[in-house]
Formats: sequence, C-alpha cells, structure tokens
Amino acid sequence: MKNTDVLVLGGGASGMMAAITAARIGSDVTIVEHNDILGKKILSTGNGKCNFTNKVMDRCFYRGSNPSFTDYALSVFGVDKTLKFFKELGIIPKEKNGYYYPYSEQASSVAQALREEIRALRIHVYFDEVKDINNEEGFVIKLSKQEVKAKKLIIATGLLAGRKTGCDGSAFQYIEKFGHKMVDVVPALVQLKATDSFLKSVAGIRADVALRLYVDEKEVFADKGESLFLADGLSGIVTFQSSRYVSYALKENKKVCVSLDLFKEATEDEIYADFKERIKNINAERDIESFLIGLIPDKLIPVITDRARVRGKSAVTLKDAEIKLVIRVIKDFKIKITGTRDFADAQVCAGGVALGEIDEKTMESKLVKNLFFAGEVMDIDGMCGGYNLQWAWSSGYLAGLNAGKIDA
Ligand SMILES: Cc1cc2nc3c(=O)[nH]c(=O)nc-3n(C[C@H](O)[C@H](O)[C@H](O)COP(=O)(O)OP(=O)(O)OC[C@H]3O[C@@H](n4cnc5c(N)ncnc54)[C@H](O)[C@@H]3O)c2cc1C
Repeated sequence: MKNTDVLVLGGGASGMMAAITAARIGSDVTIVEHNDILGKKILSTGNGKCNFTNKVMDRCFYRGSNPSFTDYALSVFGVDKTLKFFKELGIIPKEKNGYYYPYSEQASSVAQALREEIRALRIHVYFDEVKDINNEEGFVIKLSKQEVKAKKLIIATGLLAGRKTGCDGSAFQYIEKFGHKMVDVVPALVQLKATDSFLKSVAGIRADVALRLYVDEKEVFADKGESLFLADGLSGIVTFQSSRYVSYALKENKKVCVSLDLFKEATEDEIYADFKERIKNINAERDIESFLIGLIPDKLIPVITDRARVRGKSAVTLKDAEIKLVIRVIKDFKIKITGTRDFADAQVCAGGVALGEIDEKTMESKLVKNLFFAGEVMDIDGMCGGYNLQWAWSSGYLAGLNAGKIDA
C-alpha cells in the first residue's frame, strides 16, 4: 500500500490548485483522476479560451444557500493572487471587459501550466477508478490496481456539469458515506427549453435584451445581456445566468416564464412618442412590419405583430391602443419555459455539499476530521465571467493549504 500525506480526489481546476498548494508547503501529495488527463474540463472553458477570473470580484456573483461562504476564500486567494500565481506559471493575462484570459487565448495553456507545475513538484498522479474509500486511522482509498493510504483527503470531484469531462457523480456515494448532506444538484449556466412554435422561425437570432424571470408569476431574477434564440429555447449569457433558478423552480413543478425587453434603451412612453412622430412622416402604404425594421431583428417582427394582432396593417391606420400594444409586446415579450438542457450541456451545477458542514476558513469538513472539499462540489455556483474558476482556485488554495499543513 502506498502512503501519502494528502490525497486529492479529482484532477480538475480546484484539485490541481489544492495539490500544488499542499505540495509547495512540503506535503507528499497524490492526485487520483478517473480521466486519462488532468484538467480536461479546463480545455473547453471560455469557448476554448478559458476565462479564468474577473477584475470585479464579490460575493454577489455567487449563488447557493450561503454566498457569503465565499468571502474568506476570496479574501485570502482572490483575483490579484490568482493573476500572480498564473503569471509565475507563465500565464500572462489578457483582459477584455473585465474578463481575464491567458494571453495565448488558449485554455490548453492554463491546463498545461498546471500540469507542468504538478510534474515539477513531483506530485504522484494515478489515472484510475476509485473502488472504495474507508476512514480508519487515515483514509484508505481502494483503486482498481492498488490502495493508497492518506492522512488527509480532499474531495475535488465537481458535480455533474459537462459530463463528458468526467463529472459523473461517482464520488457522491463517498461524500454521503462520510455523513455529508448534498443540496439538490441541478444544471446551472445552461440553455432554457421552450416549445413555442415561432422559435423555429427565429432560431439563430441574437438580441441585446433585459430579461426578467418569473416563477409562479413572481419576478425572481433580472439581468441584461445577449440572448440567443434557439429552435427549442433560449441561449446566451443572460439566459444562462437565469437558469439555476429555472432548474429549481421546475423541479418543484412551478410555472416559469421569461419576459424579454427587446428594446431596453427606451421606456414605453419614449418609444410611443417616437412612433407617433415617425408615423406622421411616413408613406401611408407602409405596413407595421416594415415600420419596425431597424428596431427589432427582422425575423421577430411578424411574431410581434401577430401577438399584438396588427399583422399586415398599415402603420398610419393603427389606433393608439394598437400602437401601445405593439410596444408592450416589444417591452414584455413573454416565453413560457418548459425545462433546461441536461447536465451534459451545463457549464456548472447548482447544489452540492451543504455548506453548514464545512469550515469556510479551511474547507475542512465539520463532520470528519482531515476531510476537505474544493471547488464546484460544494453548494456554490458562480455567474458567467470567470467566477466559477475563481471559486475553484480560491477554495482549492484554502483546502490545499490546510490539508497540506504538516502535523506537529
Ligand atoms: C463548457 C464549459 C465552459 C466553462 N467555461 C468557464 C469559464 O470560461 N470560466 C469559468 O470560471 N468557469 C467556466 N466553466 C466552469 C468551470 O470549468 C468549473 O466550475 C470548474 O472547472 C470547476 O472546477 P472543479 O475542480 O470543482 O471541478 P472540475 O474541473 O469539473 O474537475 C473535477 C474532476 O474530478 C474528476 N472526478 C470526478 N469524479 C471522480 C472520481 N470518482 N474519481 C476520480 N476523479 C473524479 C473529473 O474527471 C474532473 O477531472 C465552464 C464549464 C464548462 C463545462
């Protein structure tokens, strides 16, 4: 049986950070990863460019049952320390609108730099399946080919997002065996599904919108950004940001609807005044559809005029009430949401190990001594913008630092 000080289960972003941190302070560290490479998920982050942190960092970018759980980790290992850590590994940051990427704009550079550091620190890596874990005077981790005994165990296995990258929930059984509760795990940062028939005709259209999300007719989320219409739903950053709330609401069989403001730059009164002014000056033959060109993406126009029941009418003949209804539809374009795409398409999951059972200053379990957690496996999910990887780096650092402390 091999002995090690710290065994890190899961060789993703947080696991690699934890392993490097523990090894740098002198611990003998072993990683067990069931993929055949470390950091597979990192390769697909940020559309292959890896948005690894953000200039603006605050708990308000985190969700979960207690976002303030992130405060300490972010204060100890926040954006500056992250940029410094990666610069020392050769990753020069490039900033775009506050989002940080490696200068190469290749996610593979980030994964490669971490792997090189793991090699340089002589961290042992087993690419193997875990068959069982027992905790008897240390953790005994049974792999398919050997057993490893570890004084400390860090679970950094992620949840179920991006399943092709190795997050299959196979470690949940051990988390539960240690007595930890898991908050329901649902897809977050994922596309929304809808069945409205108009969607097929507008698939591929992007619109800069203000989105409001209603659950049982109560507004629960609002944000602005790009939305992308799909034949079977909605994508785009603003949609992704809303998706964790959709997942939980639909799990509880609640009614979910999004309202898109398709012209967020002006109020209804301002648009009305502008319409009236323009209508005065236009050719009487011009129908309402051609009148809306330039304001709304063209394929959406007939959907709007259908909803306002003015399809094909001449713009100058529209009654005030009809003009106001067109504007209402533009400002409050409702789509009933029937689901989200699956875990395979999700960038992250919401839910995970209940935070009340973990010490936020050390990432150590409050139930099992010498057991630690890092990354997405905990009940914290970040918004788009580098917040999830930052959580992986910050929590991985704390877990590695505290697990790696050599006992006196
Ligand atoms: C397509 C996509 C794009 C994304 N883009 C961004 C982005 O640009 N910016 C951002 O901040 N976040 C992004 N994310 C989210 C981010 O990648 C994750 O939040 C982050 O990787 C989580 O780190 P982690 O270490 O907790 O888990 P992971 O990186 O998922 O690593 C967990 C590791 O554990 C391994 N594992 C699981 N179970 C076992 C087991 N039983 N035994 C052994 N090994 C196991 C897995 O194979 C995996 O390698 C993106 C995610 C996806 C899917």
